[in-house]
Amino acid sequence: MKLRPTAGAVPGLPPAPPPELSVRDVTVRFAGLTALDAVSFTVAPGSVHALIGPNGAGKSTCFNVLSGLYRPASGQVRLGDTPLTGLPPHRIAALGVARTFQNIVTTEGTVADNLMLGRHVLSRAGFAATALRLPGVAREQRAHLDRAREIAELTGLAGHFDTPVALLSYGDCKRVELARALCLEPRVLLLDEPVAGMNAAERARTAGTVDAVRAELGLSVLLVEHDMGLVMRLADEVTVLDFGRRIAHGSPDEIRRHPEVLRAYLGTPGEDPA
Ligand code: ADP
Ligand code: MG
Repeated sequence: MKLRPTAGAVPGLPPAPPPELSVRDVTVRFAGLTALDAVSFTVAPGSVHALIGPNGAGKSTCFNVLSGLYRPASGQVRLGDTPLTGLPPHRIAALGVARTFQNIVTTEGTVADNLMLGRHVLSRAGFAATALRLPGVAREQRAHLDRAREIAELTGLAGHFDTPVALLSYGDCKRVELARALCLEPRVLLLDEPVAGMNAAERARTAGTVDAVRAELGLSVLLVEHDMGLVMRLADEVTVLDFGRRIAHGSPDEIRRHPEVLRAYLGTPGEDPA
């Protein structure tokens, strides 16, 4: 299926490519522990960039900085020319950076309810006008509902649109998280372990969904994932963290053979690069 260009785009023209997301020398400390140590990487417009590393490497911390939940001790995050560092989460979301959480948080309402929560951020009418049922509000609500339905279709949830999320399979719940984030019409999507806990069939389905989302919506994706098969299949570029430091960066093929990466993951020295 083909989706309309994202909100704000000029009708008839493809959506503008997303701006580059750049992370420069970001450091985060927790009471003596350096969770991120001067980490830098760039998510190129329209690419899938994977952030990988062993447990505790700092991946979720990095997501929390990007989405405004943590303020780094030093360093800069920029979306195009716009500094994101220090902005609160709702401002960052409104600028087009949306995230999913590693652990599912959604347990209430129907799929439609959850997706409409995502749409509310975009609602021009706002809550007061909606509560007062001002003219034009019903029309805008219908447009949001139509868009939520399209996003449900793109993410394989169309058949569950009016189903309470409490009745969904685990895989479908994770998909609701993804769809909710897409309802913000992001230009950059941050996915924290989108297939964690899924079986092989659900994993393959979600990989297909991420591919479709990127192709249809033309957005950039920053992907944190332990499933190396998925990372190798989806990513254009990979950044590897270990104990808060960036230890490698490159194409999936380069990363697969990188001695530092092999050492970090397997605890064995890699081949001498010389
Ligand atoms: P990953 O997502 O790569 O598994 P995290 O970013 O969750 O790693 O954690 C990186 C390090 O920072 C870990 O040592 C973790 O215990 C620590 N950490 C993460 N969040 C906090 C916090 N809010 N307070 C204290 N330490 C934290
Ligand atoms: Mg994590």
